[in-house]
Amino acid sequence: MSTVHNLGFPRIGAQRELKSAVESFWTDSLSENELHQKAAQLRKQHWLLQQKAGVDVIPVGDFSLYDHVLDTSFLLGNVPQRFAARTDLSELQQYFGVARGYEDAQTSIRASEMTKWFDTNYHYIVPELHPKTAWKLNPQKLLNEVEEAQALGINAKPVILGPLSYLWLGKAKSAHFDPLALLSELIPLYQDLLTQLTQHNIDWVQIDEPILALDLPETWQNAFRETYTALHTPNLKTLLAIYFGSTENYQNWLTLLPVAGIHLDIVRGDYHLPELVDAWPKDKILSLGIIDGRNIWRTPLKAYLKWLKPVYQTLGDRLWLAPSCSLLHVPVSLNYEVYLDTELKSWLAFAEEKLQELNTLSTALNKTQSAVAQALNANTRAITSRRKSQRIHNHQVQERLLSITPKETRRISHFDTRYACQQKKLNLPLFPTTTIGSFPQTQEIRKTRAALRKKTLSIAEYESTMRKHIQQCIRTQEELDLDVLVHGEAERNDMVEYFGEHLEGFAFTHNGWVQSYGSRCVKPPIIYGDISRKEPMTVNWIRYAQSLTPKPVKGMLTGPVTILQWSFVRNDQPRQDTAKQIALALRDEVADLEKAKIGIIQVDEPALREGLPLRKKDWKTYTDWAVQAFKLATSGVKDSTQIHTHMCYSEFNDIIEVIAALDADVITIENARSELELLSAFKDFRYPNGIGPGVFDIHSPNIPDAASIANTIEALRGFIQDEHLWVNPDCGLKTRQWDEVTTALKNMVQATSILRNRVLEEQLI
Ligand code: GLN
Ligand code: ZN
Repeated sequence: MSTVHNLGFPRIGAQRELKSAVESFWTDSLSENELHQKAAQLRKQHWLLQQKAGVDVIPVGDFSLYDHVLDTSFLLGNVPQRFAARTDLSELQQYFGVARGYEDAQTSIRASEMTKWFDTNYHYIVPELHPKTAWKLNPQKLLNEVEEAQALGINAKPVILGPLSYLWLGKAKSAHFDPLALLSELIPLYQDLLTQLTQHNIDWVQIDEPILALDLPETWQNAFRETYTALHTPNLKTLLAIYFGSTENYQNWLTLLPVAGIHLDIVRGDYHLPELVDAWPKDKILSLGIIDGRNIWRTPLKAYLKWLKPVYQTLGDRLWLAPSCSLLHVPVSLNYEVYLDTELKSWLAFAEEKLQELNTLSTALNKTQSAVAQALNANTRAITSRRKSQRIHNHQVQERLLSITPKETRRISHFDTRYACQQKKLNLPLFPTTTIGSFPQTQEIRKTRAALRKKTLSIAEYESTMRKHIQQCIRTQEELDLDVLVHGEAERNDMVEYFGEHLEGFAFTHNGWVQSYGSRCVKPPIIYGDISRKEPMTVNWIRYAQSLTPKPVKGMLTGPVTILQWSFVRNDQPRQDTAKQIALALRDEVADLEKAKIGIIQVDEPALREGLPLRKKDWKTYTDWAVQAFKLATSGVKDSTQIHTHMCYSEFNDIIEVIAALDADVITIENARSELELLSAFKDFRYPNGIGPGVFDIHSPNIPDAASIANTIEALRGFIQDEHLWVNPDCGLKTRQWDEVTTALKNMVQATSILRNRVLEEQLI
């Protein structure tokens, strides 16, 4: 018999119950006990749902109040000293403290860093690794959940993050320290944990080592054998789970590891299945991750059965079926999508439906296809309807895509010529000051948007209210004496959703929430068809803003790669084709903004870096088309029109040349948080165009004074020539309060004028 198992289930709850519980706890309207009760309820619901969907072996320990990597840090006793020392705080307070920072009347303790989980939009709390970490196993949370599940009759498979991935994903907190040195201290804790699991009648444990989808140095590769030999535990079977990509050249030694089974992601991974299966060791389970855990499309089950049958014939009981990765990255269930049209809905599968698909496949293999004829036929109908649907094909768009010429992805002149031309027109002072686009999204703004959605406000009323916000925003910026203004983005709920709603080929779910970090969830749009622009999307707002001031107002757009990256994308055409379709729509918008006499247009690409493939060998293909898509969107303008872009919260050092290749006239870029780390990139590579490294961290509650911002700008002058240096915050201001924003910007403008005077003095000497 083939077995169905799952690697992880979304934890936030179908109605984001976890979000409300956790946030209520943070504001003291829920006690610690009540929070734990709500969490237990959710776990129960999720386990029973999986059981009902036909999952034979169910993950336990994948649940988390905030993040599973943070849970692993607590499991291993790796609590940063600044929190561990605070014995007056409860463990839960420490836990949320590490995640979000802790503040009371006397103290303010900094949170750990947060970063993206591989190439997903989920963020984890980065383990802080010291040579002297006092490791201590703290298994109670996991063991409690195991007991909870078993009491419900769940066939529980504990899930833990493997020691090597844990160390790799952590950050060394002292110089010249390789976290791998900590492995020997970690292994005994894992051994102890596994032994305790056997005492809980656990049959299988899933140990996740997703770093095996990355390029690893040899020392790390070699550590796997030693680790998994040491972790071999009598009476316990280990399933080593690898996802998000191929194991590539590790395959030779991987299958020799002393584990009872291995999970491979065959959606993302590039495996030659017949060979893999034929060579599969007789003593090991092969868990095939066949259902895409990162996207929301139904799987063509009959087609899958065709190749699965021979696989099953070879492997028999050794075949396990699973989603490609944890289902953390997809919404919980289609049941709540009451507003999606039935045709589109029939094309989709969220977590619950994906597990049902697995069940159908395994039943067809274990029994006969006719046992699940109804489910298979319904599936085939949906797959055919999607393929043949008129809604997804737009011939005009496809033809335009085919006829793109190289000229369309190049600006007319070189940056130097353009910049001079723009300077003549814009006449900006040295170190021009600007912001990233959004201003505080107040309660009132949100209410206005919600009222329009609920149709309790007419379009005319909505527009006049939004115009008032724009007016106020422009007035404030003028008072602050900023040089390049923005309209404030009050009309945008989200920088991707706003554009998706104005483009053909996008659909929106009612409840398709996916965890982004902690209690923060996003509802990614679904790109289902060819993309085209119905009408101008931003021009009226920007034109209005510009009419209020003689200073230049930047037009604000979200870039093609970011729109792609933060949506669920079609799987029936290459990602790059979809990116280019979006780029063409944006290109038309850029042209319309230029026609409306908007002299500066910003096309944000905060997600450019995160789209980078996990394996270096795949980078160039991606960066080539990503750069082409950006340039396709932005190159249709005159020399005198200034193109800006913005990027945030990622490591830029390894893609600085790609950023330069975008050939934006100005890039505003995150800098403040990484304490000038970014600048090390400029040591080896002189960024050729205009650049505004953020001079303060908008996410931090501390507002730097003018003197310290002036120091930051001075430091930047060491790497960037004065004429190219812009001054701005490091990201959009929408999550901040107005008073914080005005104070910070006032300091920023003052700092700039200090610097301008300094330059004048320098010139006099
Ligand atoms: N223009 C957007 C804003 O200011 C950019 C947001 C982002 O960088 N993620 O909000
Ligand atoms: Zn940003």
